[in-house]
Amino acid sequence: DVAARLEDVEPKVLAFVTKTIDEAKAAAARVDDKIASGEKIGPLEGIPMAIKDNMCTEGVPTTCSSKMLHNFVPPYDATVVRKLKEAGSIMLGKVNMDEFAMGSSCENSWQEGTRNPWRLERVPGGSSGGSAASVSAGQAVFSLGSDTGGSIRQPAAFCGVVGLKPTYGSVSRYGLIAFASSLDQIGPFSRDVRDCALVMNAIAGHDPFDSTSAPIEHPDYTTFLDQSIKGWRIGVPKEYFGEGIDADVSETMQKAMKTLESLGAELIECSLPHTEYALPCYYIIAPAEASSNLARYDGVRYGFRAEEAEDLISMFSKTRSEGFGEEVKRRIMLGTYALSSGYYDAYYLKALKVRTLIKQDFDRAFEKFDVLLSPTTPSVAFSCGDRLNNPLQMYQSDICTLSVNLAGIPAISINAGFADGLPIGVQFMGKPFEEGRLLQISHAFE
Ligand code: GLN
Repeated sequence: DVAARLEDVEPKVLAFVTKTIDEAKAAAARVDDKIASGEKIGPLEGIPMAIKDNMCTEGVPTTCSSKMLHNFVPPYDATVVRKLKEAGSIMLGKVNMDEFAMGSSCENSWQEGTRNPWRLERVPGGSSGGSAASVSAGQAVFSLGSDTGGSIRQPAAFCGVVGLKPTYGSVSRYGLIAFASSLDQIGPFSRDVRDCALVMNAIAGHDPFDSTSAPIEHPDYTTFLDQSIKGWRIGVPKEYFGEGIDADVSETMQKAMKTLESLGAELIECSLPHTEYALPCYYIIAPAEASSNLARYDGVRYGFRAEEAEDLISMFSKTRSEGFGEEVKRRIMLGTYALSSGYYDAYYLKALKVRTLIKQDFDRAFEKFDVLLSPTTPSVAFSCGDRLNNPLQMYQSDICTLSVNLAGIPAISINAGFADGLPIGVQFMGKPFEEGRLLQISHAFE
């Protein structure tokens, strides 16, 4: 009983912001009728899903885990939600996240932070913490998250599930509440690789409502499963294995490489020399774009509005100071600073140039390799509260995932083992629009 399982673990895991159980039950009854009457059913018919609370759902609150949008009920479905409903999937509810997807622990939420199902005093990762935890805890069969700098892959690694960040442009962002538009991408969380392929089949594809979605044909992603990786050349960038990576994680990566070798792949050390600049580059570009995207929350059109303002300007500033949390304000200030006249060239423009160099590192590596391998995170899930007052330490948790977003390429995280009962993820990075090959190697490995 899906609803019973959800309710049973929810008081411990705290994955959901809004539950839509009654609607889900009604939809499930309709599936039964369909099957009884011999009607054609969709590829995901009746499969229960959870949706990150930054994707618009018609008639169901979409809060971004922010006070600013606590009362926002969208009049339309995001393209991904529409497509999944058309494929037959049933939504159980909206799941928790760091406010506006800014964070790595799910603690920057207006709600109470979600917990890691493997150990409740640990964080599930973030920002898509609720998406990862709900799948890991057996509440939803799959979920959707968004990944701007690691927010699908890092929580997937911490919660021991599969998480895929598709190529920028593979999946429509229409109806995704924007954080950093040149980096954001929606993708699936699932318990195994086959489910990930099935969800990709449903959500990938061109959307005229998203001008950055690629007008290309996507393959049937299940055709990549059960294919050998014999003879594949896997690049192992040395920058991802140095200082700052925990010994447990390194050991698990060594074991993963042995497994891949036994499957017939060749593992070769390589270099992505600009890796060390990814973190500073990301923390200029992402906040710059966020400061612009979040300018729309002014209390006038929708969402929260502060009371007792004297005039329009004080209404704006009261609304924004009361409606946004601390991390969101920090990003808006960082971004506004980096874009202001005099600093634009020194920071923003320079970061864009560094971004190009990072992209070129990958282009060069992919001339020689089929995929690249790295850890997904430098450590296992950390304790709740541990990094909350140390933003720099929090930002470090994404050190292995950020470059992929800057380059726009796809990457997947799957479980590679455990240390002291906590999951460790391995990350495979691929060429643009080669999600199929990432699924192929992941399925061979899992
Ligand atoms: N943790 C990173 C950040 O805080 C990435 C977040 C994300 O991918 N949405 O910006």
